[in-house]
Amino acid sequence: MFPWNVEVLVWLDGRLCVEVVGMAQGPTQSGHLQKADWAVVERFALDKDFPNHQLVIRPQDLDDPRLIKGIAGQACPACSKPGYWTTKHIGGLPCGVCKQPTRTYMSQEWACVSCTHRHVERRTDRSFAERQHCERCNR
Ligand SMILES: [Zn+2]
Ligand SMILES: [Zn+2]
Repeated sequence: MFPWNVEVLVWLDGRLCVEVVGMAQGPTQSGHLQKADWAVVERFALDKDFPNHQLVIRPQDLDDPRLIKGIAGQACPACSKPGYWTTKHIGGLPCGVCKQPTRTYMSQEWACVSCTHRHVERRTDRSFAERQHCERCNR
C-alpha cells in the first residue's frame, strides 16, 4: 500500500480531526494514527524520529492548496531545537466579494515539539478568500 522508503507522512484533516499516517525506514517503524489531539500527534512524530525524518502534512483532500511538503521543521525561537513547525490552520479569511469570514485559513499556528512555545502567524500570500469557498456567496 505504501512505498518502501524512509519518509514519514502526516495527514491532517482541515477541520477538527487529525489523521496521521507515518512510515519510517523498515516495517517495524511504520505506524498509523488518527487523533484530534495534537499532543498525541506530536508524540507520534517524535516517536517516528521527527524531525530527523521529514514529514509531509496535508489535509485529506488531495486538491487542497494547503498541501505542505518537506517539513523538517525549523529551529524553535525559544529553545533553538529543531522541530518548530505549523500545527494548525485557523480559518476566517474574509471572502473577496462579500468580506464575510470563510473557512479558508487566515493564519497558522506554529508550535515547538520540544517545548511549549508557539505563535500564530497571519498568512501573507493572500488577503481574501476565493468566492467559491464562501458559504454566503454560494448559498
Ligand atoms: Zn522550543
Ligand atoms: Zn462571499
